Amino acid sequence: MPVYLPPISRRRFLKRSLAASALMLAGGCATPKSTADGEGWALLSDIHIAADANLIHGNVNMTRNLRLVTEEVVARPEPVSGVLISGDLAYKSGEVADYAAVLGLLRPMREHGLPIHLALGNHDQREHFWTTLPDDKSTLVNPPARQTAIVRTRHANWFVLDSLMVTGASPGILGGVQRAWLARALDQNTDKPALIVVHHNPALPGAMGSPLERSAQSMGILRPLDSLLGAAASLEDTTELLEILRPRRHVKAWFFGHTHRWGVTHDESGLCLVNFPPVAYLFDEGRPNGWVHAMLKPGGARLELRCLDHAHKDHGQVVNLVWRA
Ligand SMILES: [Zn+2]
Repeated sequence: MPVYLPPISRRRFLKRSLAASALMLAGGCATPKSTADGEGWALLSDIHIAADANLIHGNVNMTRNLRLVTEEVVARPEPVSGVLISGDLAYKSGEVADYAAVLGLLRPMREHGLPIHLALGNHDQREHFWTTLPDDKSTLVNPPARQTAIVRTRHANWFVLDSLMVTGASPGILGGVQRAWLARALDQNTDKPALIVVHHNPALPGAMGSPLERSAQSMGILRPLDSLLGAAASLEDTTELLEILRPRRHVKAWFFGHTHRWGVTHDESGLCLVNFPPVAYLFDEGRPNGWVHAMLKPGGARLELRCLDHAHKDHGQVVNLVWRA
């Protein structure tokens, strides 16, 4: 069963408010809201929600930021089919009270009819997450239990993975069991482009002048990727994961957060690498924080950066991803 928070219909919500016993959440996936052009998704990462709604970190009130993003997602003129949050849901150590706050803050989007899919990051705590969302637990058959999901959409399948290794420690790992599951799942789902979502960034040489850096420049986008892709605390089994992704040509992109740095590039196999901006605080001043509106289409995706600061120079930046052949 995929991990997700199903939409809550207003009618059902009202009913439930009146009769607490009639607690029933909508099951299954919401009907994709597609336009002729594609299917819209709201992509968020690193929301870092604390139980204390007033907490400020790095000059940012994380609760306020998520509320602002929620307002934008809900008010978006084009329809959005769903929401994906790529880890670091909790502030620092994944407390149960943090997840209760996350649930409360995500409620308006669910009441707007949006399903929400969640991945875990290194500031999450798996057991606490499952305690707070007992019905949404999704694990692999074999231990160690991880939080994974396949989300099928009209134009692509999202594969949401779990790279949480140790809560509070920066590096991440998928592990052999999860990688074996992924390889099988990818082979069983070749009908549509596969898009991978992992909290952690790939450990790839991305220094200035590297092939990755040049390819980013040739795409006409974004800033130097040295810190983005060469970070020490990245996905420890990057090489093993890429050995799974690269030869399976229906895998088109790896989406990640963790670095709190917006960026897009691709590797030598043509696999798109998309680094989400954080909804929460930044590590480097001047970079954008906010979210990404993705329009999935048959041959790629149109990404639009939505900065929390609408005056930011990158606000509204559009990157058109073209899937490799
Ligand atoms: Zn983070």
